[in-house]
Amino acid sequence: MQKILTQIGHWLGRNQKTIRAIQWIVILFYAFLIIVPPFLSLPDEAATLVNNLTVFSQFMFWGIWWPFVLLSIIFFGRMWCGVLCPEGSLSEFANRFGKHKGIPQWMKWGGWPFVSFLLTTLYGQMTSVYQYPKPVVLVLGGSTIAAIIVGLIYGKQSRIWCKFLCPVTGVFALLSRLAPYRYKPDKAKWHDFSNKKVIPIHCPTVLPLRTMVGSSECLMCGRCSNHREAIELSWRSPNEEIVVYGKDHNSIWGSLLLIYGLCGVALAAFQWTNSFWLTHMRDIIESWFLAHNIMWVFNTNAPWWIFTNYPDQDDVFTWIFGFELIVYILGMGFIIGSISLGLLSLATIITNGKYKVEVFNHLSLALTPLGAASVFVGLFALTVTLLEKYANQGFTWIPYLKAVILALATFWSIYLAYQIIRQYTTSIIRRISGLLITILVFAMINYSWLLVLHIWTIKSDKIPWNTLWINF
Ligand code: SF4
Repeated sequence: MQKILTQIGHWLGRNQKTIRAIQWIVILFYAFLIIVPPFLSLPDEAATLVNNLTVFSQFMFWGIWWPFVLLSIIFFGRMWCGVLCPEGSLSEFANRFGKHKGIPQWMKWGGWPFVSFLLTTLYGQMTSVYQYPKPVVLVLGGSTIAAIIVGLIYGKQSRIWCKFLCPVTGVFALLSRLAPYRYKPDKAKWHDFSNKKVIPIHCPTVLPLRTMVGSSECLMCGRCSNHREAIELSWRSPNEEIVVYGKDHNSIWGSLLLIYGLCGVALAAFQWTNSFWLTHMRDIIESWFLAHNIMWVFNTNAPWWIFTNYPDQDDVFTWIFGFELIVYILGMGFIIGSISLGLLSLATIITNGKYKVEVFNHLSLALTPLGAASVFVGLFALTVTLLEKYANQGFTWIPYLKAVILALATFWSIYLAYQIIRQYTTSIIRRISGLLITILVFAMINYSWLLVLHIWTIKSDKIPWNTLWINF
């Protein structure tokens, strides 16, 4: 098996021209699906996946591409980024003709992936990016143009955009830690090669090839495969990068992205459409405005690029609903995130004897499988909704599949948490206490999904829809 994997890596390294040709095909397909649908009328009752380009594009982006790219990162590392991603390819292509300026200090700030993930998640919900083509142009098209501009200005033969600024680079860096293989350098072979002619290669994310230990920043492009006859694609335990290397290779921004991003704001964004809490919050806030005769907040004149505004589809946000949505998503994300942060900090103190941010970051990494499963389950709901709506397919078994995915991911997270905790204490009591507190975080995330998948679904049959949406 190792031989086959090595050959696959070498094949990728030798066939960069073929990969570039594939990248251009992906770019053309991507551009077509982004640019054409906004010029078409929105889907009517008769629209299906095969007779309507807007629906097809919606399904390709949000039903297939987004959830399954996330899944692919867990199984194949960031191969999507290095081999297929149109944004990264265009950024690198633009870089050939660029100014090749040095990377500015502001760009290296570790918080960009966290901030950009939060903002794109929120903005996507405000404008209903999963439903309509115009916000897709703004979100995906805007991000692609930014990637090209960065490529034209900064770095040399590299993908500075992918390394520092892409809105999903942080999430992909976290998830790729679970991949079962990585490009691994052999230091002895590297040194043995010193008398031979070395063909220089350019790692797109400028990694230290001789000493790299993980795969979180590696785009799996394959260019370094067989470099100095010392680097090859190698199997590893999917736990290795978190349990072993996570001790020294972690960051507070990675932890915050997991805690407040994947398990906080993203979860709230999947939750709000059938949230009882949002309904009650709306009742209270909107009754207050009605009682005080402040009626402008119920206007529906927000442009589509601020809040969803499609009167022909009976889908319009009032100003007040738009702000309630922002408050709900950020508020729930903050509450879930802060409880997780508090519990993980407590587990760190119990496990380590005192609070140490490196230990906290290491322990937070145990959330990776559950965070990944949570986002996949949320996005997969879109796949199912689109298939049910536009392909007349019924999937009564899907909630069970989601429950199984979440359960397996929870067990994986518990296993990782235990393997991490045991590195910091030999005391059985401390180990068990630390683990139990960490499990409370996993339980809270699972409970949030239980609300979405089961409890609210049953009860929501009894609430009139006009308490959730403004109905025309
Ligand atoms: S280490 Fe760099 S060159 Fe090697 S596969 Fe990863 S991204 Fe490509």
